[in-house]
Amino acid sequence: MSDPIDSRRRSFLALGVGAGVGWAGGWRFGARAASRAVADEITAPLSELEYGQVQFDAGPLDDQARENHRLVLGLDEDALLRPFRVRAGLPAPGHELGGWYDTYAFAPGATFGQWMSALSRYYAITGNVASRDKVQRLVLGYAATIDADGSFYRKNRFPAYTYDKLVGGLMDARRLSGDDAALAALARTTRAAEPYLPARAIPRNEHARPGEDFSRHAWDESYTLPENQFLAWGMTGDRRHLELGRRFLYDEFFAALARGENALPGKHAYSHVNALSSAAQAYLSLGTPMYLAAAQRGFDMVAAQSFATGGWGPDEHFVVPDSSALAASLADQNKSFETPCGAYAHFKLTRYLLRITRDARYGDSMERVLYNTVLGATPIQPDGHAFYYSDYTRRAEKTFHPDRWPCCSGTLPMIAADYRISTCFTDSQGAYVNLYVPAQVDWNRNGAMGGLSIQTDYPYASTVLMTLRLPSTQTFTLNLRIPAWTRGAALAINGRRETEPLAAGRFAAIRREWRSGDRIELDLPLVQRLESIDAAHPETVALLAGPLVLMRVLKENDSATSPVARAALLAAQRHRSGRHEWQATTEAGSLTLKPFLDIDAESYSAYQEVLPS
Ligand SMILES: [Zn+2]
Repeated sequence: MSDPIDSRRRSFLALGVGAGVGWAGGWRFGARAASRAVADEITAPLSELEYGQVQFDAGPLDDQARENHRLVLGLDEDALLRPFRVRAGLPAPGHELGGWYDTYAFAPGATFGQWMSALSRYYAITGNVASRDKVQRLVLGYAATIDADGSFYRKNRFPAYTYDKLVGGLMDARRLSGDDAALAALARTTRAAEPYLPARAIPRNEHARPGEDFSRHAWDESYTLPENQFLAWGMTGDRRHLELGRRFLYDEFFAALARGENALPGKHAYSHVNALSSAAQAYLSLGTPMYLAAAQRGFDMVAAQSFATGGWGPDEHFVVPDSSALAASLADQNKSFETPCGAYAHFKLTRYLLRITRDARYGDSMERVLYNTVLGATPIQPDGHAFYYSDYTRRAEKTFHPDRWPCCSGTLPMIAADYRISTCFTDSQGAYVNLYVPAQVDWNRNGAMGGLSIQTDYPYASTVLMTLRLPSTQTFTLNLRIPAWTRGAALAINGRRETEPLAAGRFAAIRREWRSGDRIELDLPLVQRLESIDAAHPETVALLAGPLVLMRVLKENDSATSPVARAALLAAQRHRSGRHEWQATTEAGSLTLKPFLDIDAESYSAYQEVLPS
């Protein structure tokens, strides 16, 4: 969602909160015979683990999950239900939550479904009974407000958006909290919302102005609906969801992408990346290759116009390919990347594509977004102030959105839970390790239990130690992501160095008979390098060390635009104390650089100017 007040550069609104669930059992093909031939050709996608099968050790990923769990568990239930109760003409005790969420505010109740999702996911992770009980009370409280007239959706800017998040929340309540009432509420929710949905996926109305036009779905995001509809079809067998999924497939957008036409420029960034997950799920549900091609090519086009952080969409919009728009945005556009929502959509899309294709570059991309954007988001405050945009201008700071409870307060609690299901995957042949994070991982492949512990200080250190836990000796393939940016990656098993070189940018497949306690030591040299913002600005660069963008910390009188020598930047060294800080020695003095997640209240510059080489 974009800020409804600040419309300096654009007169329309951009709503965007992540939809959908990564449902491990959700891939299926339609019963149509026509799909069968396609189905036979496709290798089944990698399976996700369950939320509770990955437990993080102490560190920033675990901290972010705990913070967000605490936040959603503490939200006032009457305030959460108030927009639904008041709009249904029911008694509504208590007070409004505030900000965008209020009964007649910008996006009434829009984050309710996402918080139900998040709380269900945290229950699945922790087994915390208070979380499950709260989900069940919210489902019942919400269900009591659904009326046959769909009163909630009347004079509502975002019927499709809010309905989509409710579908995701109710599905998560069912599958993760075991709440049977959620499926009945889902069926009634769909009946209530349907009359208020447009006839088809309609583009955002770029001419709508804030405060106007509730009737033509001007700012709604109907093109993100299919993902959850196909998943709901898989969960319930209700063909109404299959029909809605098909009805809202954004075929004009997807067909163009699948043909290789770049249909991104000018489009609202977050919601269209979110729509690509609908294309991916449509491929899994219907078996139509065009939808996979749309998701893959769409991702490539997004990647080609991304910042070095992995973020994209300055001022929430895609730019013209090969233009200087990204470089120009560094001068004055501090809405560089809609971070929690964008990262949520990015994780979801790359998770689909990684599962379907087993291509390691989707994991590389996910990792970049993780460390350089969302993991550095300032925690949501109890009053609803939330981190929204990453800022890549030349004297940037971390700030909150001025309005409380914006869209990004709905997606941050969900993505902080989803790091777990993005860490490892399995297939019939073995397991895939995608994120090297300190964790205890359990899996169950074809009835064979197993797991591993990951011990590492990566990406601050290059070494990752994995120790297998197996009930008995097992033969399987362990696939380890070797990032494309590394050089000279090395592997040792039980202390014996493997001599076969590890190709960067691929999963290294190690098939052997494994025993419990086997130790796998992986070394991924954190190559330091410069990446220019675009081909036309080779002197505007970001410094990277492994997956981390090292951002320059600015003192009061520093200028981030006075150029430094390329070699000086490249030779930046990690601080001797071991703290998360690098120093570069230049002719003008010493520069301090830090990864985004280690930046607090300091001013910083993501990009630096270097002297021509
Ligand atoms: Zn957002």
